[in-house]
Amino acid sequence: MSNLVPTAAAEPCVSEPTAPTLEALPGRLTDLGGLPIRRLLPRSRRRLVGSWCFLDSYGPLTFSSGKPMDVAPHPHIGLQTVSWLLEGELVHNDSLGLAGPAGPGVLNLMTAGRGIAHSEETPARNVGRLRGLQLWVALHGASRETSPAFAQHRALPIVEVEGGRATLLMGDLGGVRSPGRTFSPMVGADVSGEPDHRLVLPLDSDFEHALVLLQGGCRLDGQALSIDTLYYLGCGRRDLVLVSEREAARLLLLGGAPFGETILMWWNFVARTTEEIMAAREDWRAGRRFGEVRAYGGPRLDAPPFVPHRVPS
Ligand code: MN
Repeated sequence: MSNLVPTAAAEPCVSEPTAPTLEALPGRLTDLGGLPIRRLLPRSRRRLVGSWCFLDSYGPLTFSSGKPMDVAPHPHIGLQTVSWLLEGELVHNDSLGLAGPAGPGVLNLMTAGRGIAHSEETPARNVGRLRGLQLWVALHGASRETSPAFAQHRALPIVEVEGGRATLLMGDLGGVRSPGRTFSPMVGADVSGEPDHRLVLPLDSDFEHALVLLQGGCRLDGQALSIDTLYYLGCGRRDLVLVSEREAARLLLLGGAPFGETILMWWNFVARTTEEIMAAREDWRAGRRFGEVRAYGGPRLDAPPFVPHRVPS
């Protein structure tokens, strides 16, 4: 989806991996027409986890009419979008003419590369519930001009681990690889622990990792985790031992090789310079580069105002 709470100035995002740690970063809550959205990445204290550069957790929401998610066509550059639902449905349409109706268990993976436009909306036939995750992966300088693409994955690998299992969304975990196309070493997994059990996740010690509790309860390093808080774990951990509580825990595990490049994020763009952002914004405004999302029944999103340089406060 679109960055629904954009800032006027671009945000420089520096890769700053640390030694093993447990750093709690509560989500910043926004309410968009009744849909609660918690921004977990980027935050001022932590902007990248490997190549993961954006994470919104939205819902849960119960509704009886309308479309709680209706994000009109908007552009992206320099990233991949990873859309994952815990409850409900979304339909993706893009400027390549591809459609992706998705529900729980179905991964929508869009590679923006040099430029794509898409829309995401709640379909007319729905269960009246919505809870999901919107993630972005930043592309390195060497791959960020790649051709735009969209893929849907309906049979993701399940990795059995001590005390639970993980649905592997992106990258590698425990010797298993997701079919989702990646451009750098990473992991993204939806992990479920059995109630009252020790849950052990094998990690790549070269990666930096983060964890988000989505449902239920569990403890890590003796600390009870809060829902919709990003726990930054640093680099160098070989495994993660979590203790599930009576209500089985569901968690999102993110990790990757430290990104190593500084990126500039603004609205739905991952860039390197303000000139590049201004060019992409102008191309969207003028109807160039990104193409049209013909399947969407309505006007596209206008780019918000862009302030090339921060005004000192
Ligand atoms: Mn989007």
